[in-house]
Amino acid sequence: NRQVLLASRPVGAPQSTDFTLNQTEIPTPAQGEILLKTKYLSLDPYMRGRMSDKKSYAEPVAIGGVMVGGTVCQVEQSNHPDFTVGEWVLAFTGWQDYAISNGEGLIKLGMNPTHPSYALGVMGMPGFTAYMGLLDIGQPKAGDTIVVAAATGAVGSMVGQIGKLKNCRVVGIAGGKEKCDYAKSVLGFDECIDHHAADFAEQLSQACANGIDVYYENVGGKVFDAVLPLLNTDARIPLCGLISQYNATSLPEGPDRMNMLMGQLLVKRIKMQGFIIFDDYAHRYDEFAQDMSQWLAEGKIHYREDCVEGLENAPQAFIGLLEGKNFGKLVVKVS
Ligand code: NDP
Repeated sequence: NRQVLLASRPVGAPQSTDFTLNQTEIPTPAQGEILLKTKYLSLDPYMRGRMSDKKSYAEPVAIGGVMVGGTVCQVEQSNHPDFTVGEWVLAFTGWQDYAISNGEGLIKLGMNPTHPSYALGVMGMPGFTAYMGLLDIGQPKAGDTIVVAAATGAVGSMVGQIGKLKNCRVVGIAGGKEKCDYAKSVLGFDECIDHHAADFAEQLSQACANGIDVYYENVGGKVFDAVLPLLNTDARIPLCGLISQYNATSLPEGPDRMNMLMGQLLVKRIKMQGFIIFDDYAHRYDEFAQDMSQWLAEGKIHYREDCVEGLENAPQAFIGLLEGKNFGKLVVKVS
């Protein structure tokens, strides 16, 4: 049983030495328990937060502890009346080959799911985050201009596509030409701007001739600096993530923009609201699942996975996620 443990708390960007690969015996389930075998592990930006002991909405992983994470598993042994050997479940068993569960918190995916890993992406946490943040906080109206960064990622790709289904103009922001081309030609975004371009702010301004009504915030930093002057009166900002800051060790350089931000929020009556998906919206999961499965079945949503083979490659893949190396929802095929 291989496990990826947290070896040390990163300062700045995580390094491969912050992780160790550990070997233990495969655990044996007691009465009322099952043995789960990990098939897919989800890698997500929030894991950077769990590596840090800074106070947050969730507990940090202990040094020497197994890295946490959502998984899709198969039941390998069962001493539990409700679970059959071979059935698939959505679990939260972390970066390891095997885990014991008493069944609590597991979501059943059936004996033969068509796309088991979708439960970690389009049909799971990231898809749900895109849906609730955009529709509940963003309140898009037909004709609105929506801007979203990390536009080809797990969350951003769904935000933009849902925005198009709601008849909005969607402008993505992504890292590099290949991602931008994909956002336009496959995901159906109206525009997509490369944030690495020297004249990024100018290009964004040109792409948002009528200003921005909904800015779905995934990244912060210089992308937000470019967005702020383009926001319209009554704009909404679902504050979902700030990935450009997750490895930061100090405040950014340059002038203090706080008063400018407050001034813009005031005079333009802008609503900015943070949210933590399952803490705030767990009760609305069914609504999301119903809409998203219908859109998928109708071919209205495209979903791209970036699938890495082997648990031993999870640390490097995770480090890459914080540098924009993934292209699509990052998952590890564990076995
Ligand atoms: P993605 O699949 O989008 O992968 C992360 C992407 O972020 C990278 O591919 C890269 O895309 C972009 N990125 C990384 N570093 C930077 C940077 N310095 N500047 C600009 N862009 C950067 O991840 P997710 O879709 O899983 O997550 C997107 C955001 O949503 C994250 O901030 C995450 O924390 C947040 N989130 C919040 C939740 C909540 O409950 N509030 C739940 C789930 C996710 P590119 O190369 O295109 O720049």
